[in-house]
Amino acid sequence: MDGAWFTSQRIGPGVWALQELIGRVAPSFDVITVNLYLVAGRERAAIIDAGMGIGDLAATCRALTPLPLISLSTHSHWDHIGGAYQFADRRIHPLEADRLGEAYDVEGVTHIRAAPPTATLEEGEVIDLGGRSLVVWHTPGHSPGHVSLLDAATGWLFCADVCYAGTMWMQTADADLTLWRRSLERIAGADISALYGGHEATPQSPELARRVLAGLDQALAGHSVSEPFPGDQLARKHPFDGFSILLRADATAGA
Ligand SMILES: [Zn+2]
Ligand SMILES: [Zn+2]
Repeated sequence: MDGAWFTSQRIGPGVWALQELIGRVAPSFDVITVNLYLVAGRERAAIIDAGMGIGDLAATCRALTPLPLISLSTHSHWDHIGGAYQFADRRIHPLEADRLGEAYDVEGVTHIRAAPPTATLEEGEVIDLGGRSLVVWHTPGHSPGHVSLLDAATGWLFCADVCYAGTMWMQTADADLTLWRRSLERIAGADISALYGGHEATPQSPELARRVLAGLDQALAGHSVSEPFPGDQLARKHPFDGFSILLRADATAGA
């Protein structure tokens, strides 16, 4: 698979959104795209998430910037780490660091290679790219070590699977709804200009975090409609205007 696997779009000075179609290779996940972001400073560039490991991510990045690359993983789910092995500098939150050391198959979709991290990402850490920096926010809930990255100069938050305009997976063993709620509140209350999520149409208005929070509260109170989710029999899909939340059937009041 060559670099054409990813589509790339320049979304600002030195910033590109890369997308690949997870809906084409794993339709049962009910998600269409995986989104990655390349952010270049003067001295280094960060590739935020590494996709499914199907296309040649390093070649795609090299075609856009000659700078040394740092692979930042927002979390350890397979659709965000597949290409991490292609980079020498690999970072993730300590709570999910162990998971990058394992190789495994995602059946019928991709092979994930072991790519143990070479450094960790901690709350409040600043990653200096030269004239541009990314601030690490620990935003758990979707997974325990999920981080978001804030470009402080633009107010752009790369928030991956915390918040996007699609079907959000909050029914897995990794999910913690109390922590997710707290992370959404943090984002909703912060001075952010745009949200760059890990899936689907990007960017989104910060308003989306407020609406997802309201949707979650409605679902937890037992006041939302839900439907079965064919991709996971233990989950119910709660559709709202512009997004859906997957929750375990026993997560909501009256269930
Ligand atoms: Zn995820
Ligand atoms: Zn994801």
